[in-house]
Amino acid sequence: FSSWFPNSLRIRVSAMSTGAGLVEFPLSPTSSLKIQKGDITQWSVDGSSDAIVNAANERMLGGGGVDGAIHRAAGPELKEACAKVPEVRPGVRCPTGEARITPGFRLPVAHVIHTVGPIYDADKNPEDSLRNAYQNSLRLGKENNIQYIAFPAISCGVYGYPYDEAAKVAVSTVKEFANDFKEIHFVLFSDDIYNVWVEKAKEVIGK
Ligand code: ADP
Repeated sequence: FSSWFPNSLRIRVSAMSTGAGLVEFPLSPTSSLKIQKGDITQWSVDGSSDAIVNAANERMLGGGGVDGAIHRAAGPELKEACAKVPEVRPGVRCPTGEARITPGFRLPVAHVIHTVGPIYDADKNPEDSLRNAYQNSLRLGKENNIQYIAFPAISCGVYGYPYDEAAKVAVSTVKEFANDFKEIHFVLFSDDIYNVWVEKAKEVIGK
């Protein structure tokens, strides 16, 4: 009992529920991880130093899922800006695991960071690719003085990454960047992904 009790208590203290569908985990005295359910296209904290991350594809000209939703909400200017990102090889503006930045146009955030997660069944090392996608997005955010950044569940849609494995990579990677942002958010579209992320954050941050 004595070894169980302190751990359990610590999790309860560190994971503050601030209402339905939003949980906050302190990462450092000046930064926190927030996990919420919702539509990332409507997310912002303070506008000018905000960025949302797009789960794009290598071509970067829009697609389905969260990519399509972000392009619709940002307006056609976003596709024009993406088209101007130089190709590194024919049809590839952002290789898997890398990240690129554009303005947010009609979105409530100043910036969109486009990253490409792995196709789970096609990638030789999906874990490395997913970690790279999170790390390179966070590095680019830091270089652009972004204070508040929000991620969707990269690769957890049509790219087929198992939720539990994806959550482990996502939460452990953002934890390493605690000192670089005021808030790091996950804005998750479905109950099941939201629940997996919260449980994983309790495991990874709570200890
Ligand atoms: P990928 O190709 O990387 O798998 P998807 O867009 O298919 O990307 O899915 C990534 C995740 O984004 C999925 O969990 C999907 O439910 C979620 N999603 C879709 N639309 C939105 C949105 N508007 N806000 C937040 N998440 C979204």
